Amino acid sequence: MAVRMTRRAAVVGLIGTLAVSGAGLAGAAGPAAADHVKPSEPPPKMPVATGHGGAVATVDADATAAGLEMLRRGGTAADAAVAAAAALGVTEPFSSGIGGGGFFVHYDARTGKVETLDGRETAPASATDQLFVDPDTEEPLGFLDARVSGLSVGTPGSLATWEEALERWGRHSLARNLRPAVELAEDGFVVDETFRSQVEANIAIFADFPATAELYLPGGAPPAVGTTLTNPDLADTYRVIARHGVDVFYEGPIADDIVATVQEPPLGDDATRVVRPGDLTTDDLAGYEVVERDPTMVEYRGLQVYGMPPPSSGGSTVGEALNILESFDLAAMDEATALHHYLEASALAFADRNRYVGDPDAVDVPLEELLSQGFADERVCLLDSAAAAVKPVAPGMPDGDYAGCAPAAADAHAVDDAGSTTHLTTADRWGNVVAYTLTIEQTGGSGITVPGRGFLLNNELTDFNFVPTQGSAPDPNLPGPNKRPRSSMAPTIVLDDGEPFLAVGSPGGATIIGTVLQTLINRIDRGMDLPGAIAAARLTQPNSRNTSAEPAITDGLLGDALVGFGHTLVRTAEIGAATGIEVLDRKLLQAAAEPVRRGGGSAGVLIPQRWPRP
Ligand code: GLU
Repeated sequence: MAVRMTRRAAVVGLIGTLAVSGAGLAGAAGPAAADHVKPSEPPPKMPVATGHGGAVATVDADATAAGLEMLRRGGTAADAAVAAAAALGVTEPFSSGIGGGGFFVHYDARTGKVETLDGRETAPASATDQLFVDPDTEEPLGFLDARVSGLSVGTPGSLATWEEALERWGRHSLARNLRPAVELAEDGFVVDETFRSQVEANIAIFADFPATAELYLPGGAPPAVGTTLTNPDLADTYRVIARHGVDVFYEGPIADDIVATVQEPPLGDDATRVVRPGDLTTDDLAGYEVVERDPTMVEYRGLQVYGMPPPSSGGSTVGEALNILESFDLAAMDEATALHHYLEASALAFADRNRYVGDPDAVDVPLEELLSQGFADERVCLLDSAAAAVKPVAPGMPDGDYAGCAPAAADAHAVDDAGSTTHLTTADRWGNVVAYTLTIEQTGGSGITVPGRGFLLNNELTDFNFVPTQGSAPDPNLPGPNKRPRSSMAPTIVLDDGEPFLAVGSPGGATIIGTVLQTLINRIDRGMDLPGAIAAARLTQPNSRNTSAEPAITDGLLGDALVGFGHTLVRTAEIGAATGIEVLDRKLLQAAAEPVRRGGGSAGVLIPQRWPRP
């Protein structure tokens, strides 16, 4: 079932009545003097917190504090998630924000149901499968040319998601939930090394757009670690939304500014970069809808694993891989053998994801078959425990006819993508739980800030395949009108006999699927607790020739053993940055965030446990 949510009552006469701040598009200032930068102390961060009354786990201490503040004020898990997400728009602006989209998975303690909101960005109504093909050369655009352009900007879905989530499950208004983020944008937050290095990595792009440089290159350089950065434009934008509602963003002056920015990207006078305009229109923004979709669900070792359905491939790929792995006793295996099985199951599930998963409103996705045990059992035959199959492996045939060991269906195609995102997890005193992954796609999105509004626009449409990737088979993930690009985001909630057991998710583009899958296996099969499962060294196999693996694996005996299974490991500094929450016993909550990756995350509970568990 998919239910489309039309955003509520348009605000009549909005445009005429608002005194909305904004520099306008013409003549935006160059890199400003550093008047919004002052030195300060970084906030404390704890990767694990255990206690009662509600919990929040995010990548950032300020965002976790914002979520906890809403819980303290009687808010729900949904309130905490929205408040934390809004704060991340200030402190993690290169991974998320109102210029992007995401997927919100919610467990409702009253009904016992898991529901999902699809707040994915949409392509303009005018988009065709040639969106990223250069009309002059008839060749696909280079990734950077596509990313840093108006072409890659989809209609953002985050604000509409927040509105819908609060309407259904919140106790506070959007205005109230935005307040901690407004204060943060106004008073400032302390720049850490992750933030600085993300600016550094984007410096050439940010410098070309005065509105972006003004925010993130104070004095022409990345802000120093330990300085405090404010974003008064974003504080104003949040305030205007708080006062006038979400329609100001989708149909009012902010919509006009977004459209103008996409149609005429505001490059600096000295910039020589070719930045292609996009064709996003005010009608595209006004027509945006959040879609309620039935979650994916697979049974795994007696637990119910709920995930995000298409257009995300998160739920179906994690689910199919779990169905494959259920045939094996991972708990009884040595570590290398268990990880080999994990990698092989991941490659098989990715082959099917690449062939069959796209926006279900635009293509037929055989979701039920992909998640059926019959299909998984057919795929199990291809998991050879003696030696890794040559990658990429071919997709299977999810046709309902499963007799023994089916040969590979056809030719095999690898599809890789990577980017940046953020995942947050919340729980409240009533037992509601949220797993929410949101993004602007690449770290820094399109690099284009809406002048005077304080937020970056996404480049989510580069998640489409630029040209067909599936040989003679139709490609489910080509651009199209109003279409949502396929995602890998995998916000996941696991129930045990209908009661919440754990929730987890991660950033990392296509590696998200491996991170979530490996974290689940670590927790459920491999005897780790949630913090250990999140901290453990990772590796990921998205059906490509190479397997990315963190140094703790490649540089040790485990790496040697995996190479012995036939895997080609590529040393990768870091994979993912997960957060999660587990319900221990009697409503005792454990929030867990990454201890180290991306500078470490922040976990908090409302009422900390006084004594450690025996
Ligand atoms: N755009 C990616 C997706 O939807 C997420 C980017 C990332 O997580 O780094 O799968």
